[in-house]
Formats: sequence, structure tokens, C-alpha cells
Amino acid sequence: MSDIIQLLPDHLANQIAAGEVIQRPASAVKELIENAVDAGATSIHLILKDAGKELIQVVDNGKGMSAMDARMSFERHATSKIKKIEDLFEIRTKGFRGEALASIAAVAQVSLKTRQEEDPLGTQIEIASSAVTSQEPVAFAGGTSISVKNLFFNVPARRHFLKSNTTELKHVLDEFIRIALAHPDVAFRFTNNGIEQYNLPGGNLKQRILSLLGSGMDRNLIPVEELTDVVQIRGFIGKPEAANRTRGNQFFFINNRFIKSAYLNHAVTNAFEGLIAKDAFPTYILFLEIDPRKVDVNVHPTKQEVKFDDDKIMYAYLQAAIKFALNKYNVAPSIDFSLDASIQNLDALKMPMTQHREQEVRGGYLYDKFSSAGQAHFIERQEDRKQWQQQQKAFFPEMPGTGLNAEKPMVFDTPSVAQPMLLSEELVDETGSKSVIQWKEYLITTMKSGVVLLHQRRALERIIFEKLEERMQAREHVSQQLLFPVLIELSPSDAVLLNEVLSDLYLLGYDIKPGQGSHDYEITGVPSDIQGGQEQQMLEWVLEQIKNESGQVVDERRTILLRTMSRKMALPRTLSAEQAQNLVDELFACSQPQYTPDGKLIFRILSQNDLSALL
Ligand code: ADP
Ligand code: MG
Repeated sequence: MSDIIQLLPDHLANQIAAGEVIQRPASAVKELIENAVDAGATSIHLILKDAGKELIQVVDNGKGMSAMDARMSFERHATSKIKKIEDLFEIRTKGFRGEALASIAAVAQVSLKTRQEEDPLGTQIEIASSAVTSQEPVAFAGGTSISVKNLFFNVPARRHFLKSNTTELKHVLDEFIRIALAHPDVAFRFTNNGIEQYNLPGGNLKQRILSLLGSGMDRNLIPVEELTDVVQIRGFIGKPEAANRTRGNQFFFINNRFIKSAYLNHAVTNAFEGLIAKDAFPTYILFLEIDPRKVDVNVHPTKQEVKFDDDKIMYAYLQAAIKFALNKYNVAPSIDFSLDASIQNLDALKMPMTQHREQEVRGGYLYDKFSSAGQAHFIERQEDRKQWQQQQKAFFPEMPGTGLNAEKPMVFDTPSVAQPMLLSEELVDETGSKSVIQWKEYLITTMKSGVVLLHQRRALERIIFEKLEERMQAREHVSQQLLFPVLIELSPSDAVLLNEVLSDLYLLGYDIKPGQGSHDYEITGVPSDIQGGQEQQMLEWVLEQIKNESGQVVDERRTILLRTMSRKMALPRTLSAEQAQNLVDELFACSQPQYTPDGKLIFRILSQNDLSALL
């Protein structure tokens, strides 16, 4: 009897492996563009003939390869992206299995040109059916250009299996859009048979979305931003009226990698419940950042499914983030943020944070968000939550319907819980007089239910905000004329922006006239309470803020304007006893004394219980 087991020849092994990685032109396109992105390209050109059946070429301006690496790149399991097993769990690049080029070269005729900046000459390699036919130095501009011709020319069954050009092009477009969304800063061009499909300049996410999905979306995008210590969610959702009859514009990216998840989709769709028709699909483009060790995306090179360590938490956060965004942009005025019971009871939410973890969080940039109880959408630590609820209960003894007295173990409450009437009554204690103590940036006073700790600057911010808002609504123009008009010169784009908010600024007390040049302005009057010397800076802050915050709707701009101005105008200082008292009174006369316009807690009440726990 003779032995019958043989090792597969390389080219056959590669062809078989290729079957997993490269199913159609779209999969090759994905791999090649991802390589270009990984190579740090800022500009990528995709050229197809016959939807990629004839030719797929990707030209990038990335870092290129040395002659040796160029040759190596076609070997199976050849990758520059992981070196040790731990790297597998920290993956930040697109590819890492080192299979794509080997697979493509096994089933097509490939020509590669590449040059690293520091090398005088580049390298050109021709390879087909895994066999290198030539490798020579070549003069080349820089970056990398890969041409893949006649995909599956040597696997007729697969070639035959390819669909019509229209269908294959559709697949390519899908991949292209996903990568282009994930990398808005990279410029992309895409041509098929000489016809330009897309020409996308590098820009921000919003610009990229509009150029990919249509500028008609402009009015319909709501920004989502939810930064927690477990997951960071960013991106945009479409307003309910922009929901589609077809499942078109729905994108999840986890750590910047496109994924499909029916589960997460459910979380989003659920948040839209009651706002869109049952058979409609909400638009979303959402980026979730998670510790790569807590998510398993790369079970398979072409797989787009994910597994999280704790997907229920992901679900809860995502749903809450969407609800919050809808609520914030006044799309759904009165939805509640309660989490569903099965999620409330999850260990991960019930267990207090470990000291170590807390330390970590405190050190991180997320802490600010984390620590502000006013972030209505943030899940607080259970004990804090309970305590705060008890304080609220003492504070608003019989207030039905606010949700505060209800014993919900975990509530994402909206900041609109304070009742000014009750508050000012509360403030007058038995003796009728009051003293306010100042210590650093804090004010301390008492009321019936306990000791009030108050943040001076935040209180000022709230007071000024409401004052400005009132002025704007009353359309009164209270202005303080400047002795010497201030001249400002803006960039063309800032000038456009300023023009758009000019009428709002006028209502706030600004007198701004166009100056000599086309982007010059003259400030002749400012709101009465702006500090001298700050006239110009304030305007620049406002414009900057409007540019940075992505909401482009008029209303939204107005709020940003008010928020920025009140933030900048709120300057804490040492107050006389009377001033301190006035400040407290003014705060409690506000319609929303508890939170700053951007949701930070302004004061806390320490009840007797709280104090006895301390002393
Ligand atoms: P992987 O991307 O998983 O590492 P590939 O087969 O896609 O595997 O690529 C192999 C290697 O070739 C990469 O790790 C990278 O070092 C190099 N490479 C591929 N494409 C490019 C490119 N466009 N620019 C620079 N280097 C590239
Ligand atoms: Mg790759």
C-alpha cells in the first residue's frame, strides 16, 4: 500500500484560500482600498472596467513598500500589521491576516507598482496565478498602484458565477460607501469605464455623508454623541421624516470598521418607536468605539458580524443615546429614558465600580461627562443614583408625574425636573433670613431640606442664558454702544457664518455692520453685560462653537449661540454678601435652575442623612 496524503501545491492552496476572502470584485476592492487606508493614504483612486471584472485598479499616495516588502506582500500570512499574539486583540488597522494580496494574486493577473518616499526608484511586480513573472525597478511617483486584471481568469466556475455588471457594480458601490464613510478625511475618486461615480474631497463626517447620501439630507441629520466609559457613540441619525421605505442608509461602524448587527439595529429602531411608520427604516450612520479587547469583530475576514462582551449594555447605551439625541433636537419632546427591566438588573450595571476602574475613569477625559449627574443620558453608579433620588424626594415631597418619586432603580431622566415655584418657597427658611457662604468657586447656603452646595460659575451661566434667551424671545434690542467701534476681519467662510447669525446677534444686543472689505465688519454695539475688551473675542468664540458643533439647523445655532455666550460671560468673582444672596435668588428664579444649558449639575442638596453619613 502506498501513502496517499499529499501537500497541496501552493498555488492550489492559495486558490482555495482565495475563495474565502475574494468572492467577487467588490471583495477585492474592499481589501485593496483598506490596504491603501492602512498605508496612510490621504488620496485614493479606484478605477474599474466592467464593474471590476476586467480591471480593478487602486492608486494611493500612502507610504509605499520597499522592494523586499513588495515581493513579500504576496506571500500568504505576510503582514506588517501584527507581530505577536497580543496584537490580535488591539487591532487598529483594517487588515491583519496577510491573506488579501496572496488571495488576489492566486486568482487574477496582478501588477503592482510601489515606491517609498526615501527610495530613488520604485518596484514593479507582475504576478499571475501566484507565480511572479517579473520584478524590476521602476520610476514611479510614490505610493502604491495595484492593478487586478481578469479576476478568476483561472477559476472558470467562479468567473461564470459573477453577476451582471450592474449587480457587481452595486456591490462595489456598497463597499466603497462604507469605507468612504469610515474615512471622511481621505479623498476618494471612483471611476468605472471612464465614468466618474464619486469624487469626494477629504472633509468631516457630515460633509462626507452629504456627498455620499445626497445633500438633501442636510436638514435631516441629527448629531449623536454619547461618551461613556464603556462605549463612545458618535455619528448622525436621520430625522424621523427622513426615514426610508427601504433599508438603505443604515451604517454601524465599530472601531471604524463597518459591521452588520441586527441586534444594534433593533436598539436604534426601537428608539424611533412611535416616531416613524412601522415599515419605515430610520437613517443612521453611527460609530461605536469600544475597547478592542471587548469586542470580537474579526472572526472571519469577510465577516461583518460582531460579538460584544456584554451586548445588552451596548444595546441600552445605544438606545438611550438615540432617544437622547431625538429628544435634544426636539424631535420627540416627551419620551422617557427609562431602561428596560432586564437591563437594569444586569450585574455590570448594578455592581459598583471597582476603585481601580474608577481611578482610571477619573483620570480620563471622559470623567467630566461621567461625573456630571446632569448628563441625563448617563448611567450613574447605583448608589449615587439612589442618594440623589432620595434627595430629590425630600426636596419635592409631593410631585406626581415627574418620575422622581417613582422607585425606578435606573432612570435616564431628562434635566427638566426642577420646579421653580417650590424652590423659591423652600429657600425661605423659618427665620426668613439667609446667609450665603463663599468658598473658592462654591457657594454654600441652607434650606429646609438641607445644605445647598452651589457652583458659582455654573449658576451664572444658567442665569445669563435665561436672560439672553428671554431678550431674544422678547425681540428687544438692548445694546451698549461702543465709544470706539471694533473692526474685525473674518475669513470668507466665517463671514458667511456670521451673516447667518447676524439677526440673532442683533436681538442679543450686538450692532454689527459690514465694513470696507467684503469680509470686514464693524462692531458698534454689544450686549449690555459683555465685559469691555471682549467684544471681538466673544464673536470669534461664537463662530468657532457654531462651526464645531455640527447642528446646522437654525434653532440649534441659536442655542449654541446662547450657550457659548453665557458660558463666556459667566465670570465668577468674589461677591458681597448681598450679591451672593442675589445670585442664589436669581438662580432659583430661573426656569431650570438645576442644570447648566449643557447639562451640568449646578447645585446639590445634602440632606441630614447625607451629612450624618459624613460625620
Ligand atoms: P494585511 O493587510 O492583512 O496585512 P494584505 O495581503 O492585504 O495583508 O497585505 C500584505 C502587506 O502588504 C500589508 O501588511 C502591507 O504591509 C503591505 N501592503 C499592501 N497594500 C499596501 C499598500 N497599498 N501600501 C503599502 N503597503 C501595502
Ligand atoms: Mg489587507
